[in-house]
Amino acid sequence: MTQHKEIGWNFENSYARLPETFYENIEPTPVRSPELVVLNKSLAKTLGLNVEELQREKGIDILAGNQLPDGALPIAQAYAGHQFGHFTMLGDGRAVLLGEQITPSGDRFDIQLKGSGRTLFSRGGDGRAALGPMLREYIISEAMYALGIPTNRSLSVVITGDSVIRETDLPGAILTRVASSHLRIGTFEYTAKWGDVEKLRILADYAIKRHFPDIEDNEDRYLSMFQEVVERQAKLIAKWQLVGFIHGVMNTDNMTISGETIDYGPCAFMDVYDPATVFSSIDMQGRYAYQNQPGIGQWNLARFAETLLPLLHEKQDHAVKLAEEALSTYEKLYHKHWFAGMREKLGIQNKEEQDKTLVEDLLAIMEKHKADFTNTFRALTLDKPEETAMSGTTEFTQWYEQWQARLERQEESKTAAHQLMKKVNPAVIPRNHRVEEALEAAVENEDYSVMERLINVLSDPYAYSAEQEEYATLPEPSNRPYRTFCGT
Ligand code: AMP
Ligand code: MG
Repeated sequence: MTQHKEIGWNFENSYARLPETFYENIEPTPVRSPELVVLNKSLAKTLGLNVEELQREKGIDILAGNQLPDGALPIAQAYAGHQFGHFTMLGDGRAVLLGEQITPSGDRFDIQLKGSGRTLFSRGGDGRAALGPMLREYIISEAMYALGIPTNRSLSVVITGDSVIRETDLPGAILTRVASSHLRIGTFEYTAKWGDVEKLRILADYAIKRHFPDIEDNEDRYLSMFQEVVERQAKLIAKWQLVGFIHGVMNTDNMTISGETIDYGPCAFMDVYDPATVFSSIDMQGRYAYQNQPGIGQWNLARFAETLLPLLHEKQDHAVKLAEEALSTYEKLYHKHWFAGMREKLGIQNKEEQDKTLVEDLLAIMEKHKADFTNTFRALTLDKPEETAMSGTTEFTQWYEQWQARLERQEESKTAAHQLMKKVNPAVIPRNHRVEEALEAAVENEDYSVMERLINVLSDPYAYSAEQEEYATLPEPSNRPYRTFCGT
């Protein structure tokens, strides 16, 4: 029994102690011949895990679901969600939560195996995952972390030795996902659906204890919790917009209470600045297009508010009023975070009335000239305006002069402005063609070196290192738009 101790697993299972309605007790289904293909060593260390031991047979068996670590109490979580606007009962159909790892510094993280076999919630699915999408989640979630955007993280990817049947046979894999919790708006929707207010209270108290301990003693703690989630989501989505991240499937089951990004299926980074950009092959109407993300955030929060009404006030009218008031702060909060971020992207450190026009004008010119989102801000950061797609146009020349004049009107030097810009405008993002190239080498040729290099370059996106230059180049123009899939 002590064998797993050496790896450093140190589980608590607070979620699995909630009433049974919230989960199914289930163990991962064993796989044929697990092989570790990526391990996040720095994350492992943060979690208090021994990197050497994790790479031995026993360590890998745990990451593959073939053995349970001591102290694990594996479950599949129940949840519901609005998918593309429609309510559905869901749950972990291909994931198992092993438990909550308590780190040496006392933090608590869910350790979840994704692709670990069927559960009560699998419906028609096989409970498994293919290698490509799991590696993709690893690359993009870790890139998001390095960009400073709240997100769940990826500890490892293990190939299972079994095939999964999709359109063709693909190598199967299991991703170990690390999150500050997997509580979602959908968890509340699931609970509210049963109409049991006591269960709802148990869940809300649990979420407060886990994510908002400061408000635990507030008399109106449920309203405070809602307000906190509004704030965190507003901030999160502003951060997405500021780097051009398109989540792709902002269903309410994919929106966390913690304010972390979760569910890296059809997501991708925008290249050419076009607010209507959609990558997901199933998002026909563009519901989750780049420009719609802030509004969808609010729509999702409204669904969250509906679930909380019985806890907000005994009189429903009054509860609705309280929820509406709190929800109405979203737009302002979102705009505040987004605008503060845009000012920083332009090196602006104080406030002027005209800044709004300056920002809007730039975006309009970028859109008109199909400028690359990341590389435009990168070029401005390096003060190489000639490198943008807008260079040479009268409107951009005028805009550039206005921007220069604006920077001169602030106390800080231009050097300081550019230093600030370097901290917020990434030199690299996980560009679609680079991600594809890495996945192809790994999946088709079992060559993980391309991916390792990419992960390395993305691990410090604000470094502006020489190596990153190569990763900032755009792909050859293609007449086929980039498409992403849900990753099942
Ligand atoms: P997602 O699109 O990842 O948010 O997943 C939506 C729902 O489908 C969740 O309940 C998943 O657990 C479930 N699901 C996705 N892929 C599979 C699969 N291969 N087998 C079983 N359930 C799945
Ligand atoms: Mg999901």
